Amino acid sequence: MQLADFTNEPLSNFKGNLELFRLMQEAVAQVGTELGREYDLVIGGERLQTRDKFLSINPSQKDQVVGVFSKGNAELANRAIQTAEQVFKSWSRTPVEQRVPLLLKTAEILRRRKYYYAAWMVYEVGKTWPEADADIAEAIDFAEFYAREMLRLAGPQPLTPIPGERNYLEYLPLGVGVVIPPWNFPLAILAGMTLASIVAGNTVVLKPSSDSPAIAYKLFEVLEEAGMPPGVVNFLPGPGSEVGDVLVGHPRTRYIAFTGSKEVGLRINELAAKTVPGQIWVKRVIAEMGGKNAIIVDSETDLDRAVEGVLVSAFGYQGQKCSACSRAIVLEPIYEAFLEKLKQRVEQIKVGPATEPESYMGPVINARSHQSILEYIKIGRQEGRLVAGGDAVPGPGFYIQPTVIADLPPQARIAQEEIFGPVLAVIKARSFEEALEIGNHTEYGLTGSVYTQNRQKIGRAAEDFFVGNLYFNRKCTGALVGGHPFGGFNMSGTDSKAGGRDYLLLFTQAKAVSERIDF
Ligand code: NAP
Repeated sequence: MQLADFTNEPLSNFKGNLELFRLMQEAVAQVGTELGREYDLVIGGERLQTRDKFLSINPSQKDQVVGVFSKGNAELANRAIQTAEQVFKSWSRTPVEQRVPLLLKTAEILRRRKYYYAAWMVYEVGKTWPEADADIAEAIDFAEFYAREMLRLAGPQPLTPIPGERNYLEYLPLGVGVVIPPWNFPLAILAGMTLASIVAGNTVVLKPSSDSPAIAYKLFEVLEEAGMPPGVVNFLPGPGSEVGDVLVGHPRTRYIAFTGSKEVGLRINELAAKTVPGQIWVKRVIAEMGGKNAIIVDSETDLDRAVEGVLVSAFGYQGQKCSACSRAIVLEPIYEAFLEKLKQRVEQIKVGPATEPESYMGPVINARSHQSILEYIKIGRQEGRLVAGGDAVPGPGFYIQPTVIADLPPQARIAQEEIFGPVLAVIKARSFEEALEIGNHTEYGLTGSVYTQNRQKIGRAAEDFFVGNLYFNRKCTGALVGGHPFGGFNMSGTDSKAGGRDYLLLFTQAKAVSERIDF
C-alpha cells in the first residue's frame, strides 16, 4: 500500500473567502437545528440507555442544551472493557491493509463535512470559527499521519544481520486501551488518541469529557460510517471520577491514553500502577497534561510582532489551550512599552458568543471554570498590577474579559498555577539569562517561545529553555501534526509526542523473531 506524502490540512480563511464564510454560516445554522437530541452509549455496536442522564450545554448561552447523554456507570464500564477484550482477538489480527483505510476513510468523511463538525464545536465548547476549523484540521491530520506511520511500522524494520539466522521485528498491538480526552480539543485530541490506538490494532473504551460528549459521539458515528467493526471503539460517556476509576483500575485494561489536567493525570498514573488480581502486565500510561507556558520578549526584537504573538497565544480560545501563553517575561528596557502596546490591543478584543463570526474570544467552558478563573484574577490583583480586563463580561454565557496582570514576582500563584483561562501574568526580567531562569521556574515544561533578533540568544534559549515545544519569533500555540510533534516535559506529561514519528510506538509492543537457517 503506497500513500502520497503527508501534508497538513489547510486552514480556512473565513475573513478572506466569502464562499468558506457562507459554508460555515450554513453549518452553524444547520447544527443549531440539531441541538438538544438524546444520545446513546455504544458497547460492542449495541446502543444502550441509562436512566441517569447528563446534559451537555452551550457555554455561550448556558440555557441551551447541546445534547442529552446517558450516564455510564461501573457496570457498563466493566462490560465495555470485556467487550473490547473480546473484539481485540479479531481486530488485533486484522491486517494493517484493512486498518489503515479505516483512518483514511475517516479523514475523508471529516473533510467532506468539515464545517458541520466545526459548528458542533462552536456550540459545545465555545470555539470561535477559526479555532473550531483548526481543531478539525488537526483531527484530519492525525488520521492521515497515523495511517502513514502505521504503514511504516508494519514494514520491514532494520536489524543487524546475524550469519546463519533469519530475523525480523514486528510491532504488535497492546490490548484494550482506555482513551480519556479533555474538552479543549474535543475532536482533534480525542481523534488522535483513538485513531492511534485502533490503527495499531488495539481496541478502545472511549470516555469523552463530560463537557464535550456530543462532538465525541459525532466522531464515533464517523468511525462507524467509515466501516469500523462493532466494539473496536466503545463509547462510554460518564463522570470521570466514577467511570474513569473503574476503567483505569480494571485488570484487563492494558493501557490508558489520557490528556487533561496534572491532577487527574497523576491520579490515573497512581491507580494504574496498582496491580490488581487478574492483571498480568504493567499498565502503560500515556499522559499529556497541563502547562504554564511562557513567552520571553527580548529587548532586541520587533515589539509589535511580539505583542501580537503574546496576544494570540494568551487569548486564542480564551486561553484554554494547554499550549497557551500564561506568562510573558519581558526584558526591562522594553517592559513599559510592551505593556502599553499590549493593553491597547487587548482592549480591542471582542468577547461574545462563539456562533458570531466577529467574536475573537468566546466563553470559557463551564460555571466551575468561570468561577475559578475569576478567583485567580482576584488573587492576581493582590499579587500584581491589573493592566487590562479583570472581570466577567455580562451575558448569557461564561464570558470573561481578557486579563493582563503585570509586575508579578516569578513565584506568584498566578505565575505558577495553571489557570486555563484568559489571564496573562507579566513578569519583568533584568537580563536574558534571568528571563530564561524565570521561564524554567515552573513544574511544567510544555511550550515556550522567545522573541529576539539576536542569534546568540536564540542559541542559548535553544539549549536552556526546558520545554517540549520551543518556538522562536512566533506564537507558542498552533503546533502542526508532522511538523511540530507535540508534548511536554516534567509535570506536562509522560514526554510523548503526539503527531510525531515516535507516537505510535507508545501503542505497540515489539516482538523480535529469530530463526536459525543452517539447522
Ligand atoms: P481534566 O479535568 O483533567 O479532565 C480530562 C479527562 O479526564 C475528562 O475526560 C475527565 O472526565 C476525565 N477524568 C476526570 N477525573 C477522572 C478520573 N478520576 N479518572 C479518569 N478520568 C477522569 O482536564 P480538562 O479540564 O478536560 O482539560 C484541561 C486540561 O487538559 C488542562 O490542564 C490542559 O493543560 C490539559 N491539556 C493538555 C494537553 C497536552 O497535550 N499536554 C492538551 C490539551 C489539554 P469528566 O469530564 O467526566 O470529568
